[in-house]
Amino acid sequence: MQEFLHLLRLEPVNQGASTGVNWLTCDSSKQTTITSPVDGGLIGKINKAGAKEYDQVLATAEKAFQLWRVMPAPKRGEIVRQIGNVLRENKRSLGQLVSYEMGKSLQEGMGEVQEMIDICDFSVGLSRQLYGLTIASERPNHRMMETWQPLGIVGVVTSFNFPVAVWAWNAMIAAVCGDVVIWKPSHKTPLSAIATQKLIADVLKENNVPEGVFSLITGDTREISERITQDHRVPLISATGSTRMGKIVGKACAERFGRTILELGGNNAIILSQEADLKLALPAIVFGAVGTAGQRCTTTRRLIVHDSIYESIREKLVTAYSTLRIGNPLDENNHVGPLIDKEAVHTMQEALKKLKEQGGKVVFGGEVLSGKGYETGTYVRPAICEAKNEYPIVQEETFAPILYLIRYKTIDEAISYQNGVAQGLSSAIFTNNMLEMEQFLSPVGSDCGIANVNIGTSGAEIGGAFGGEKETGGGHESGSDSWKMYMRRQTVTINYGSTVPLAQGIKFDL
Ligand code: NAD
Repeated sequence: MQEFLHLLRLEPVNQGASTGVNWLTCDSSKQTTITSPVDGGLIGKINKAGAKEYDQVLATAEKAFQLWRVMPAPKRGEIVRQIGNVLRENKRSLGQLVSYEMGKSLQEGMGEVQEMIDICDFSVGLSRQLYGLTIASERPNHRMMETWQPLGIVGVVTSFNFPVAVWAWNAMIAAVCGDVVIWKPSHKTPLSAIATQKLIADVLKENNVPEGVFSLITGDTREISERITQDHRVPLISATGSTRMGKIVGKACAERFGRTILELGGNNAIILSQEADLKLALPAIVFGAVGTAGQRCTTTRRLIVHDSIYESIREKLVTAYSTLRIGNPLDENNHVGPLIDKEAVHTMQEALKKLKEQGGKVVFGGEVLSGKGYETGTYVRPAICEAKNEYPIVQEETFAPILYLIRYKTIDEAISYQNGVAQGLSSAIFTNNMLEMEQFLSPVGSDCGIANVNIGTSGAEIGGAFGGEKETGGGHESGSDSWKMYMRRQTVTINYGSTVPLAQGIKFDL
């Protein structure tokens, strides 16, 4: 058994539902086995939760909300501060598990835990800054203001590629806002979630936090995910994953007037101007395209290159890709780990086939690796391709390391390619030309939720709001004023005078 599994107190068989400190006993005949994409090793088994456990978790969360919402926000922040400390103490082992279960590099696994720690710090500060406005009233002796109230139960549905950080971005902010959280982790990476739940349980126990403030439930999509998205007792669903999933979740929530934060697929591009500093651009392009083996929502999928430097950039990228070390992501010497499963490998191969059928060309890589160290069939060589923006396959998000090179002649054309896809998550331009930069950031520039200059598309700091437009879902979470999504806005008017001025000057002689 890997030592980090022991340190994280994962069992050979784990339960699929927890209300905080307590774990519910789930049906052992409904078991799922989780193996690693790194080497095929068994990580653990889970007894999946079903409808009965769902009802228990919901009922406990409802009760917890009654207590949690009246605890002063800075006191809630103190719990979050302690959660941050537990994560600090366990950063390496949780990072190792994330890396082993998901396949990202160890540095990225630990980086993901660091993001959790950072959002804890952010949320602790936020717990003393949940502010509202005071607004001038048109009526004499009246004061008008807005206050922000806790919303209720927040369902957090997370994707496999950030098995733990996405929960923290939502849960820590929701918690200081006075909400209680039910986490539905990805069915592909549930053990990282279970380990996280076990870590925070120590803090919950020591502080007598009511059961139900932080719950976790994992089971079949039909039994759990569909139930929670349709449940009127859950006023907010924050769901991260594919656009396909977002369409289902968005519709189910809209039908019951539930609120959503949807963080869905991206199709991110970098515009590489002839006036770019290539010392900055090349490492950012390679990291953006191959980091996490192309399985980040912000992965660079399209490189829109100025005609005058196109050929030399293609050659430089081929040279850079030839030096990539592909292998076990827990070995810090490797740059690229495996894809999550063989299905993802198949999807990548199909995409490359379609690209060729549609007129494109693979100029480097793309093959499935075999032999020693690659026995799982989940390792691929990142691909560099030549394509046109309008190809149907380029319009799709293929969750794999495929970089499409697209030629442009004018900045207007480059921006129209950049925006000419259904998704709108992350975008970047590399240029030292101030006019190009300003146009890219202007109302006629990038239409994405994230627009970067001289840094790549992938990765984002938690201090800013994170999210994207169009089919990326329009949700924003994490920094800035994203906390407002987790609260109920209330406009309050107080009359401290001796008359009641009625609206529209109406008078009653009573
Ligand atoms: P996925 O859509 O397959 O699954 C995401 C989550 O949704 C999982 O927990 C899954 O169990 C759940 N789910 C699936 N079908 C559901 C349904 N019908 N109802 C309710 N829940 C359902 O996505 P994935 O493969 O885990 O993750 C990769 C995708 O996530 C990519 O498209 C990527 O771009 C996107 N992503 C987006 C962001 C962002 O912030 N925009 C961040 C990370 C990942």
